[in-house]
Amino acid sequence: MSAKLLEGGPIADVIKSEVQAAVAELPEEQRPCLVAVMAGDNPGAQAYARMQRKACEEVGIVYELKELDEAITEADLIGEINRLNRDEAVDGIILQMPVPDHINARAVQAAIDPVKDVDGVNPANLGAVVMGRAGGAPCTAQAVVRLVEETGVDLYGAEVVVVGHSEIVGKPVALLLLDKFATTTVCHIGTSDAGMLEQHTTGADILIVAVGVAGLIKGNMIKPGATVIDVGINRIKDEEGKSKMVGDVEFESASEVAGIITPVPGGVGPVTTAMLLQSTLHAAQLQR
Ligand code: NAD
Repeated sequence: MSAKLLEGGPIADVIKSEVQAAVAELPEEQRPCLVAVMAGDNPGAQAYARMQRKACEEVGIVYELKELDEAITEADLIGEINRLNRDEAVDGIILQMPVPDHINARAVQAAIDPVKDVDGVNPANLGAVVMGRAGGAPCTAQAVVRLVEETGVDLYGAEVVVVGHSEIVGKPVALLLLDKFATTTVCHIGTSDAGMLEQHTTGADILIVAVGVAGLIKGNMIKPGATVIDVGINRIKDEEGKSKMVGDVEFESASEVAGIITPVPGGVGPVTTAMLLQSTLHAAQLQR
C-alpha cells in the first residue's frame, strides 16, 4: 500500500470533544435531546441506533429510540413525527432507514420540522444546501466534506468526481464542493451503463464514491495520487464464509494508486456519527 490512510476516528474524536465541551456548559435540564424514530426492526437500523446511543451518551446528549410497529401506517408515523415536532423537550429527530415498504420515506422526512431535522433530509434543508448552507446538509455529506478538508487539499478548481447521486450523499456532496469552487462531476448508474465511468474517475483529483456496490472502483480507475473517499458500506462473505464490511472501492488495488484513501470501516462512518452529534447540538442552540 502506498496511499496515506485517512482515518475517520481521530477526526470524529475532535468533533465529539467539541460537542462534549459545549454540552457540559449547559444546565442539566437543557441537555440536547435526539429522538430516533424506527418503524420495524431492521437489523441495520438497530445497529445504527446502538451506535447513535453510545455516541450521544459519550458527549452528554440525551438519546431516545422510538420503536414503532412494522405495520404502522404512514399517517400514524407522520402523526408521531408531528408530536415530536411539537415537543419542546426534543431538539433533534432522525428517521431510521430503511422504513417498511408501504411507507413513503420522503413524505415522512418532509414532515420533520426543518429546525429539528438533524440529518438534513427535509426538502427545506436540502434546498438550503443549494444556497450554500452546509449546516443543514445530511450528516454523511458533511462528513465527506470534513474528510476532504482534513487532507488540506486546495478545492478551488480541483477536479472532483462524485460517484452516486442520492439525496443523502451524492447530490449534497456535489453541491457542497461546488460551493467551494471545485469542478464537480457527478456519475451514476447511467454513467456506468454508458461505459463512461472509468473515463470520469481517472480524471479525478478527488474521488468520492457512494454507490453501494462492493469494490466497484478498482485501482486502474483512479488517477495516481488522487484522494479517494469511500462512503460505501457493503457486507460480503470472506474466503472463510465470514461476513465482513467493505466499501465501494477495492481497497487493495486502490491503495496502490491513490495518494490518500479512507478505509471501510473506520473512514466516513465515525465522522458521520460525530456530525449527527454536532447537528443535534446546533439544533438545540437554535431552538433556545
Ligand atoms: P443509493 O442507493 O440511494 O444511491 C446509489 C447511487 O449509486 C445512485 O446514484 C446510483 O445511480 C448509483 N449507482 C448504482 N450502481 C452504480 C454503478 N454500477 N455505477 C455507478 N453508479 C451506480 O445509495 P446511498 O444511500 O447514497 O448510499 C450509497 C452507499 O453509501 C451505500 O453503500 C450506503 O450503505 C453507504 N452509506 C454510508 C454512510 C456512512 O455514513 N458511511 C451513510 C449513508 C450511506
